[in-house]
Amino acid sequence: MTSSNEDSKENLPTRFQVWGARGSRNTVGSSIGNHTSCYSLAVGEHLFVFDAGSGLLPLSAALTTDSRLQAVRHIHIFVSHAHWDHWEGIKDAEWMWRKDSGLTVTITAPKQALDALRSCCSPPSFVDLNVLAMGCLDRLSFEEIELGANLALPGVTVDTLQLNHYSGLGSSRQDLPTFGYRLRVHDGPTLVYLCDHEPTVDTRKMEDNALSSADLAILDASHGDVSEHAFGHGSMESSAILARRFPAVHVFAGHHGPMRSDAAIEEAAVRHANDLPRFTVAVEGMEKAWDRNTGSFG
Ligand SMILES: [Zn+2]
Ligand SMILES: [Zn+2]
Repeated sequence: MTSSNEDSKENLPTRFQVWGARGSRNTVGSSIGNHTSCYSLAVGEHLFVFDAGSGLLPLSAALTTDSRLQAVRHIHIFVSHAHWDHWEGIKDAEWMWRKDSGLTVTITAPKQALDALRSCCSPPSFVDLNVLAMGCLDRLSFEEIELGANLALPGVTVDTLQLNHYSGLGSSRQDLPTFGYRLRVHDGPTLVYLCDHEPTVDTRKMEDNALSSADLAILDASHGDVSEHAFGHGSMESSAILARRFPAVHVFAGHHGPMRSDAAIEEAAVRHANDLPRFTVAVEGMEKAWDRNTGSFG
C-alpha cells in the first residue's frame, strides 16, 4: 500500500526544462538565452541535470518557488566536460547557500572536468565546495565517470556518448574528453544530450545510435551553417540534418554561439529547419511534459 505522499510524487509529471541555452559565455538582452548550458528532467523526487552552467541558478531558485519542483530531494548533475561554461553555476546554486535545504547533490563528470571544478572551487580562489555545502546539503558527492560506463540510478539508467569537441584551432587545438549522456527513464522517455559536439562523417554512427532510441535530444547549434563549424561545435544546420533523419525525436537546438543575435539564431532556424515540426530552438524557460497516456512528449 502506498501513502498519499508517495502517490502524489508518482503523479508528478516527468518534465523537461531549458535553463541555460547560451554557449561559452553569459550574455544579456537576449530573449532566447543568456545563461550557459543547463537542462533538466524532473522525475518525481529526482532531478536529472545536464550541465551546470549559469542556468543552474534559476533552476536552483525554482526548487523553492515552483510547486511542481517541490517534491525534488535528489539532484543528479551530469557535467559534459571541463570547459568553465559547463560547471560555473555549481558554486552559485541556491542549495549551496540555503541552510537545511534537505537536498542531496551528486555531480558526475569526466575526471578532467572534476579536476577543473575542484581546482577552481578551492582556496585561495574560492571555498572548497564540501565546506560551502556544510549545513546546507544533506550530502554532496562527486562521481568520476568513464566513457562506456552505464549507471543504474533510481528509476533511470544513464550511459555515455563520445563527443567531438576541442578548444582552439591549428597548432593551438586542444582536444578534451567530452561526454554526451543518454538517460532512459523506466516506463518513460529517453533523453539524449549531445552538447558540445561538432558532427563529422566519423561521428555519424554515434549520432544515429543516440537518436534512434531517443524521445528528446539536445544538440549543439553554436553556429548557423555547417560551413562555419569550428572549435568543436555544431550548427543549426547540422542539428536540422540530424533532426530530419529522426523526425520522431523532439530536437532542441541550443548552446547558441556567444556572439549570435536572436535575429541570426532565428534566421538560421527558419532557413534550415522550417519543415521540421519537432525541431525547436532552445529558449530559456521552455518546458515539455511527458504524457504517460500517449507515451510521448506530445
Ligand atoms: Zn560549451
Ligand atoms: Zn566546450
